Amino acid sequence: METTPSSNGSHGRLPQSLARLGELSQNLWWSWTPEGRRLFESIDPTLWYLTHHNPVKLLADVRSERLTQLAQDPTFIRQYSAVMRAFDAYRQNTKTWFATTHGQLDRPLIAYFSAEFGLHISIPIYSGGLGILAGDHCKEASDLGLPFCGIGFMYPQGYFRQRITAEGWQEAAYAPFNPEESPIHPALTPSGEPCKITVQMGARTVSAKVWKADVGRIVLYLIDTDVPENSPENRALSARLYGGDQEIRLCQEILLGIGGVRMLRALGLSPTVWHANEGHSSFLVLERIRELVQKGMSHAEAAEAVRQCTVFTTHTPVPAGHDVFPHHLMDRYFAGYWDQLGLSRDEFLRLGETPESRGHGFNMTALAIRSAAHVNGVSREHGRVSREMWQHLWPGLATDLAPIRHVTNGIHAPTWIAPELNQLYAKHLGPDWADQCDEEAVWQRATDIPDHELWAARQTVKRKLMGFIRERARAGWIHGQLQPSQVIARGTLLDPEALTIGFARRFATYKRATLLFRDLERLKALLQNQWRPVQLVFAGKAHPADEPGRYFIHEVMNFCNDHKLGGHIAFLEDYDMHMAKFLVQGVDVWLNTPRWPMEASGTSGQKAALNGVINCSVLDGWWQEGYNGANGWGIQPLPPSADQQTQDKHDAEELYRLLEQEIVPLYYQRDLDGTPRGWIQMVKECLRTIAPQFCTKRMVKDYVETMYTAAAVRTPTTW
Ligand SMILES: *Cc1c(COP(=O)(O)O)cnc(C)c1O
Repeated sequence: METTPSSNGSHGRLPQSLARLGELSQNLWWSWTPEGRRLFESIDPTLWYLTHHNPVKLLADVRSERLTQLAQDPTFIRQYSAVMRAFDAYRQNTKTWFATTHGQLDRPLIAYFSAEFGLHISIPIYSGGLGILAGDHCKEASDLGLPFCGIGFMYPQGYFRQRITAEGWQEAAYAPFNPEESPIHPALTPSGEPCKITVQMGARTVSAKVWKADVGRIVLYLIDTDVPENSPENRALSARLYGGDQEIRLCQEILLGIGGVRMLRALGLSPTVWHANEGHSSFLVLERIRELVQKGMSHAEAAEAVRQCTVFTTHTPVPAGHDVFPHHLMDRYFAGYWDQLGLSRDEFLRLGETPESRGHGFNMTALAIRSAAHVNGVSREHGRVSREMWQHLWPGLATDLAPIRHVTNGIHAPTWIAPELNQLYAKHLGPDWADQCDEEAVWQRATDIPDHELWAARQTVKRKLMGFIRERARAGWIHGQLQPSQVIARGTLLDPEALTIGFARRFATYKRATLLFRDLERLKALLQNQWRPVQLVFAGKAHPADEPGRYFIHEVMNFCNDHKLGGHIAFLEDYDMHMAKFLVQGVDVWLNTPRWPMEASGTSGQKAALNGVINCSVLDGWWQEGYNGANGWGIQPLPPSADQQTQDKHDAEELYRLLEQEIVPLYYQRDLDGTPRGWIQMVKECLRTIAPQFCTKRMVKDYVETMYTAAAVRTPTTW
């Protein structure tokens, strides 16, 4: 196989008539555009599969003869021209939603900070839900035409890759990824120089370069400390996502927040709205206050000016999800900085104070909530829980008046829809269904899709999942990574006809992956039923430092390996966005069993619902507002007074009851032609009610209307 030396090297070898393929491969727009995906796939379907759908690598590796052949293929040229026309029209469109509804705002720019972004597996800088949400937010900001840019990290080693040993334990492996095989390039300053920044952190001076990724119309900027002028220690600072100790993490967050603001200045950008997605980037407020204080404002004036145009989204009620840095580390890195903010040490440390951390810890979420006038949780329930959690910041105010609202998460439909269902929706809901994805009237038409067509499409997608699982297992065996016994645990005995339940997410203990195994006899009866079999597919990573999470994976692996469970349970190694697509599209039921009220929102169930996969979940996070009694199954948690044991027992009991009495019978109740009418009715109800509400089109519009415009109009025009 040929390789080319640089990311732009492939352009040189492209025939003249296909010259713009290189440009297309460098803008992630292709990844959520079906015609774009098909175009790259048809260049070389095998290579497309082998490169994990990475067009940059595909164009570098494809044989020259193949390119020459395509340049003379009228069908391919037609396909190519149509995609390029659509790409140009997309980027030049002046009548976007934002332009037509908010065009009156004066030079708005929303800067969106996040520690991770999940856009595509060819840029592995995400770990899970938070990153995917940020990636989906960017794609939708592009689709809706928001003036918007993202600020994050380039992690040269990304997040860890998961391997499961023969004994069923998770191992973490970090593999460097090659920027030349990713759609990223060096970002340039207005004068055309590569953008570089320097951040003083205590005694360390850290330099960083900046990458950019084009995401449709918007740009994502990524900070990278792997530059020659840094010490080895500083070079490695941004090597891994969530990979270091507390001090590395603090330094990363200084880089993201403070470095991020400096980077925007170096790029010549002047945001009017600053959105911190989770507390990792909270320091951005400090740097902006410092800028204003240095220009002569008092601290109080500066803090208020910054507050008015800052948006903060909190993402979890789980205490471990909030960074708290010990004061001795804050002293090490901020002594000297607080003076520039016009603050004493005590006043500075008080910005991150909570009742729990008083006197010893600096809480990043507390800093963000104190410093942002526009704060939200990510579902109605999470908004309520967050008001309770943070009520102490507004002593004297009733809890429900605490100024934290909610914008419920959504998913970017074009990214998560299965191609087969996309076609079906185009036919029955209208060719522009994805552009109008938040309109209830569009989804009302789902009721009229003929049952057998919907069922046939669902079956096709499910067979694709089974093929994906089988081929992964086969590849593992061929390459000597799997023993024959492990091959069964990877799902080779799964049956495409059997009711298939998917459970894939981070293995945090509150998500209770093993709830279904509480009563093994009852579970066995469900799985082994000869006429109405049930099977389970698991996937997910546990953070390498999360011992209980790793133990949960081991427990699930034991069940997968238990011959008495007959190969009806599978665990798929190394969950990522690519696998997530197959899973959320291909199973029949999406299971979620968080311990209420710990699931802030969750989004995988929304991806499933868009594809006609029915949710069965504890009524927590988004599902608490999505469930209507007829569009899936909900498990009502016990009142908060119940202890964990009682709650677990109750939820498991309820889950078995639903499976035995409702889910399995409904799935296997068939017409003469084999169609499960009742099931399809529920699928349609799920599409009709969930798809329009839990998409990023609705979500980003909500952010614009409830948060961004309020923040933008309060930005002084003199900035
Ligand atoms: C959607 C997604 C998640 C988030 O799932 P939750 O429902 O929030 O648990 C995590 N990881 C990947 C790879 C995803 O695609």
